[in-house]
Amino acid sequence: MTEVAEAPVAAKSGELKRISHWIGGQAVEGTSGRSGPVYNPAKGQQAAEVDFATVEEIDRAVQAALAAFPAWRAMSLSRRTELFFRIRQLVYEHREDIAKLLTAEHGKVLSDALGEVARGLEVIDYCCGIPELLKGEFSEQASSGIDVYSIRQPLGVVAGITPFNFPAMVPMWMWAPALACGNTFVLKPSEKDPSASVYTAELLKEAGVPDGVFNVVHGDKVAVDAILEHPAIKAVSFVGSTPIAKYVYENATRHGKRAQALGGAKNHMIVLPDADVDMAADAAVSAAYGSAGERCMAISQVVAVGDVADRFIEAVKVRIPKVKVGDGMQPDSEMGPLVTREHRDKVASYVAGAAGEGGTIVVDGRESTPEGEGFWLGVSLLDDLKPGMKAYDDEIFGPVLGVTRVDTYDEAVKLVNENPYGNGTAIFTRDGGVARKFQFEVQAGMVGINVPIPVPVAYYSFGGWKASLFGDTHIYGPEGISFYTRGKVVTSRWPDPATSKVDLGFPQTR
Ligand code: NAD
Repeated sequence: MTEVAEAPVAAKSGELKRISHWIGGQAVEGTSGRSGPVYNPAKGQQAAEVDFATVEEIDRAVQAALAAFPAWRAMSLSRRTELFFRIRQLVYEHREDIAKLLTAEHGKVLSDALGEVARGLEVIDYCCGIPELLKGEFSEQASSGIDVYSIRQPLGVVAGITPFNFPAMVPMWMWAPALACGNTFVLKPSEKDPSASVYTAELLKEAGVPDGVFNVVHGDKVAVDAILEHPAIKAVSFVGSTPIAKYVYENATRHGKRAQALGGAKNHMIVLPDADVDMAADAAVSAAYGSAGERCMAISQVVAVGDVADRFIEAVKVRIPKVKVGDGMQPDSEMGPLVTREHRDKVASYVAGAAGEGGTIVVDGRESTPEGEGFWLGVSLLDDLKPGMKAYDDEIFGPVLGVTRVDTYDEAVKLVNENPYGNGTAIFTRDGGVARKFQFEVQAGMVGINVPIPVPVAYYSFGGWKASLFGDTHIYGPEGISFYTRGKVVTSRWPDPATSKVDLGFPQTR
């Protein structure tokens, strides 16, 4: 089963591979008659068809998770830890198989896909320490003869709804802490690249995770709404675009669920005149064009302060022709195609529209787009962007880097702070005092100082501010453990003749 990860390819007979749900420890074919196409973006061809779940199929997955919950939550911490080490080992051993599925369906290059799996594995590593993470507190003799202690318990059945751009890592941000805390899980991955989730389900089964603890249902709005409305689902984690994040947060909470919904981004990188320009240009090119810009932590907008702008743009221009755009399966490719034809066309339309809005097209990626049927687009560099222009305001989510010129540091920070998004941001400078001031006053959840993509390590938590996160809790790390558990405080007294007497007054500490 896990010996070979079959990348979905059109069968020789001309039939498409069918991707089904995973419920109660086995593959379950959908019955809705509704399905969606899964493409190989490098070939520009449909490679598979994924079943879309009905409301009844979502309920079936929830019932499987409900049935598995009592035994799973009762499993001792030492047994669950042992299981997590097995999961960790299997995911590690099959990291290339998972990465190949990501490249086949998402388009990102294999080295990038391996990086995605590695960052997801770090979250699983963290969860191997679950006994330490679930430790409560204990106060002996809080009152005479009375001890008080706190424990954290799982919520029950919880659900995750994930985006196309990290088909393995983002689900790991959710299911690993959720399961480690003793919850059972229903995952609704992106319908654009669903194979990695089913493959993960097979790996978890092989590791010994009991049937029903981890379920995968595919689909669209019908499946998402059924999750949001299902009374037995206690919490929903969502990662995706801002309008859907807002919708999910509002509807999940309306139905009494705990919710965390991470949204889109427009990550600004400020380059100050004293910055190491080569370092800043290397960072901007890597962070803007890596994964074809389809990263929520991609740098999409540089704010160049003072006279650094021309030097910075020159340095980026020199680097752009060296970016190797090609099929992600080829070892020398550095950037693959976009996920779908529609998305590619939308990204290209921002480049096309920039000049009409007053921007300057410094490098036009449409001119360096590789030949072929794949959803290709070369990398673009736009200058003179300002708020109010579509190329500045929108999350383009493609290989397009915008530059805005300002005179002062204060103007640069104002741009970041006035942006509706607040996911990641970065500053490039040699001045520690300014960097510290930036960290103090910038309105974003993840801040890089000479680091363009400041994704927190697994033992911190990930999350943006403003329109990049709906809800109070960031994802994975300590806040992830908190999200997937609820607290209980026990006040306890044991029979002791020295402290026992009748007292009808309001209980007070003694
Ligand atoms: P998306 O919002 O289109 O889809 C995310 C999920 O929502 C998918 O599972 C999809 O099936 C579902 N969905 C889509 N439309 C829906 C609807 N109308 N009703 C109910 N459910 C719906 O996002 P995407 O295009 O898959 O992913 C890219 C977006 O995700 C970008 O905006 C990116 O910034 C964001 N993202 C954010 C983070 C973060 O940590 N903040 C991380 C990764 C991606």
